[in-house]
Amino acid sequence: MTGDSDSADLIVVGSGIAGLAAAVSARQRGARVILLERAPREDRGGNTRWTEAFMRMRSENEVAHDFISHFAANSGAHLDPALVAETTGDFDTRSSLSRTLSMTDPDLIATFADHAGPTLAWLKTFGVRFDFLPSYLITTSTTRLAPVGGGLALGGQRRRCPL
Ligand SMILES: Cc1cc2nc3c(=O)[nH]c(=O)nc-3n(C[C@H](O)[C@H](O)[C@H](O)COP(=O)(O)OP(=O)(O)OC[C@H]3O[C@@H](n4cnc5c(N)ncnc54)[C@H](O)[C@@H]3O)c2cc1C
Repeated sequence: MTGDSDSADLIVVGSGIAGLAAAVSARQRGARVILLERAPREDRGGNTRWTEAFMRMRSENEVAHDFISHFAANSGAHLDPALVAETTGDFDTRSSLSRTLSMTDPDLIATFADHAGPTLAWLKTFGVRFDFLPSYLITTSTTRLAPVGGGLALGGQRRRCPL
């Protein structure tokens, strides 16, 4: 919490990487932010603190060669081809089943890929370092970058954090 404890422009719930990133970026834009966390202070960090936080990156600037295809292949269920075919038509003419399909918007995946490098650069401004660390993962089909110190380092580098 920064400033007046009775008012805020933004209330963020949860101090994992999603909440911290939202809170810090809003604070950097001048917003008054309240960050709520249900865990005791010493246990904060959610799932984020327990992960190695491997990311499918080829370098700090570029996503791995299979980033988009892998994301697209894994972000939805194995869908009935007939329902998928319907999605090329006008939304109003599609069956209700087809309209409610859980599919990730390709534009969202592309935006994610475009922002990956700049996001790592932003995290580095808080002292987070990235490296190609040894992995417990069996597959070696792709390149995986990770923050040194894992997810705990993503939430733990608070020295230069503006919150
Ligand atoms: C063992 C493990 C390994 C993983 N490995 C990887 C990996 O290599 N690469 C990768 O990309 N992902 C990995 N993941 C997944 C990744 O860690 C999560 O997707 C990511 O950390 C989610 O971040 P988050 O901020 O959304 O949620 P979290 O980090 O879970 O944070 C949510 C926070 O919200 C708080 N909260 C929830 N409800 C409330 C409430 N009502 N009021 C107040 N606070 C609340 C929680 O206490 C928590 O602190 C792994 C996860 C685990 C558990």
